[in-house]
Amino acid sequence: MHGPVSSDRTPRDADSSVARVPIDQQQAGTVITDLKLELNRMQRTIRLTIQAKLSGLQGRSCGTLEANQALATALHELIDGQGLRVQCSECGHPAILRVSPRKGSPRGAFVFDHSIDGRRTFHGGAGVVPELRLVSKPTRRGKRAAAADRSGNAEGGSA
Ligand SMILES: [Zn+2]
Repeated sequence: MHGPVSSDRTPRDADSSVARVPIDQQQAGTVITDLKLELNRMQRTIRLTIQAKLSGLQGRSCGTLEANQALATALHELIDGQGLRVQCSECGHPAILRVSPRKGSPRGAFVFDHSIDGRRTFHGGAGVVPELRLVSKPTRRGKRAAAADRSGNAEGGSA
């Protein structure tokens, strides 16, 4: 970020100025499109990597309710940072995995916490980690602009 260029100050600048041809619009568009594609691929790799690791937890449980809750929280923070949610195995909605205390189940129950038709709903309830499939975090309701913005590069977030 230099100010106005006083041309003769550094003679060497003359060389590098050759590279300073204006970016044409098409080129700019290509760079951005390429980057989006590449980031989508990386995002997909991240999602599949996390999902593969998580499959090692499936059907298992920590020894205590607190440990299971800590696991669910850590898991949520991890995937939330990647713009991901777990997919409810019952209805397919993007959800947050939580562990609720439950009578007769000292280690708690794994539930999918999500909003369906604007109402907070819980599905699942197994005593062990359910199968965890990762999906993109839904865009907030009423934010059409953001949704439109995202749909351009979405790989296919299931409805
Ligand atoms: Zn559900």
